[in-house]
Amino acid sequence: MDEYIKTWNHIIMNCGYDNTYKMAWAKALVELYVATLDKGQHSTTLSFKQIAKRYLCYYWNQTIYFDLVQGSNLKKLPEVLSATKELIDRYYRAKDNYLPERFEKVQFERLGLSLAYQDTIGSIVKTLRKDVCYRFMTVGGTTYDIYQLDRKSGIVTLHSEQIRSLTEHSELLLQVINYRWTQMLESFNYSPKIAMKVRAVAEGKIRRQNLSSFHPYLDLEFDKGERICFYCQQPIASEDLSVDHVIPWSYMFSDDLWNLVYSHKSENSSKSNTSPLEDVIIRLEQRNKMLQQKLEESQFKKEKQYDELKLAIEKDYVRKFWLAAKG
Ligand SMILES: [Zn+2]
Repeated sequence: MDEYIKTWNHIIMNCGYDNTYKMAWAKALVELYVATLDKGQHSTTLSFKQIAKRYLCYYWNQTIYFDLVQGSNLKKLPEVLSATKELIDRYYRAKDNYLPERFEKVQFERLGLSLAYQDTIGSIVKTLRKDVCYRFMTVGGTTYDIYQLDRKSGIVTLHSEQIRSLTEHSELLLQVINYRWTQMLESFNYSPKIAMKVRAVAEGKIRRQNLSSFHPYLDLEFDKGERICFYCQQPIASEDLSVDHVIPWSYMFSDDLWNLVYSHKSENSSKSNTSPLEDVIIRLEQRNKMLQQKLEESQFKKEKQYDELKLAIEKDYVRKFWLAAKG
């Protein structure tokens, strides 16, 4: 590996941090420069605005699906994250439903959000200039000239050998960046499966499973197939039936019988990432004990669903994950 890539690697692995900005910066530079290769120029310039667009993409996708904490100060969000969250709020209000979309698919103009989008990019550019672009180059008191920086004009320049080198090692570098970003997130977040969440976001593989495979187990709770809503205790017509994660899926990133209940579609909490109240948790604990008994008496006793539910009760998962999710 050449010295240039070694330096990148050194910076990524050793930079100080109290938020994830530097990793987003590194990732944006690598991805953008890889796409500029082979235009024959002696050097290539990127604007902070181009970088800010990539930035918004990363933070949008990590936030809209998993609401990951990106900084050490829980009382004051990193500015880029507040700006991103504000844009996500406006996006939900504009389209009037709560189905999250990847950033790459969102049509800001069609939603009447062109201006809001431009404002967000503008505020990210400010942060890049003020906090990120020059700090990234300095580790442990040494400044490394891995790019030419013109802070005032808001541009970064690399010459062609550097771009060639970045491109050649881009896969490796991006893995190191994701690894380090994950490490940072693990120091800020208490939610489970951080590494899997980061990877799923990066690879665009966030797919919610169809939960109808849980119906046979959940049905054990009810007589004659009459399904009752866990939240309002009223019967649910089949066209209005949904299976809900009591502790949000965005937090758990997993489908577990101990966390799943029947609900009316309109009450399905997937639209919000907020944590349930304690009385809901107490009822879920009771439900699980009852369900365990029913499973034990059923043909499902030898299945892993039974073992997993039993383990969840023994280990007190409902309460532990609920407390952790509340923060
Ligand atoms: Zn209901």
